[in-house]
Amino acid sequence: MRAVGLHADVVVTTSRVYKTTCTLVRGGGEAFCIDSPILPDELEILPALAQQAGFTVVGLLATHADWDHLLGRYAFPEAPLGCAETTAGRLVNEPGAAQRELREFDESFYVERPRPLSLPSAQRLPVPGKLEVGDGELELQPADGHTEDGMAVWIPWARVLVCGDYLSPVEIPMLKGSASAYLATLARLEPLVEQADHVVPGHGAPIDGARAAAILREDRAYLEALLEHGEAAKLPLARRTAEQRRIHAENAERVA
Ligand SMILES: [Zn+2]
Repeated sequence: MRAVGLHADVVVTTSRVYKTTCTLVRGGGEAFCIDSPILPDELEILPALAQQAGFTVVGLLATHADWDHLLGRYAFPEAPLGCAETTAGRLVNEPGAAQRELREFDESFYVERPRPLSLPSAQRLPVPGKLEVGDGELELQPADGHTEDGMAVWIPWARVLVCGDYLSPVEIPMLKGSASAYLATLARLEPLVEQADHVVPGHGAPIDGARAAAILREDRAYLEALLEHGEAAKLPLARRTAEQRRIHAENAERVA
């Protein structure tokens, strides 16, 4: 698992599967863990990594309710979970979905976990709104479209945007929500991307603001083409693998 320091108060790890990112953010004496790595050894080493960096994790945040972002409890079993109201709603309305999908992943790759995933009932955060971490204040923005729920986290003093499953250098926009909501989220993220030194996508290593802005333009163009031409829409040049074409085919079906 790769770990990089983006700022004295921000450390990001990237999982060896799906390149799922996990962001540790510190304000004064407290830290939050946003999203999670996936593999058991990565989750096991996370508390030591946080401690060595001087981050005391007191809470978990999830950008959205997809299973691959919800595994922080394996690393910090006591920490409460905070998320957007939309995400808390999804967790309530789809009970056991994250556990089931995690189990399917683990079974297909013969992965063993120390225990089943326990998810505490989530604390609903005001989105848009602000959230204190120690003496720092995070800004939360709604980020839906990829799924019907979600939030992005702006860390103003570090100029880091943790955006959830948007602006990925490795994955085209994946529509499980709606294309129009996705485009609205891109528009909402755009001014933050312009100010950002670093952007942490849900999947793929952290990128600088200029690269994220370029991906934002590509993703907007892709979604507009998808709405207009469906399956015939062209994929972003650097994201045309077989897996991305498979995601594209599902997107085309969804907007048809
Ligand atoms: Zn994801």
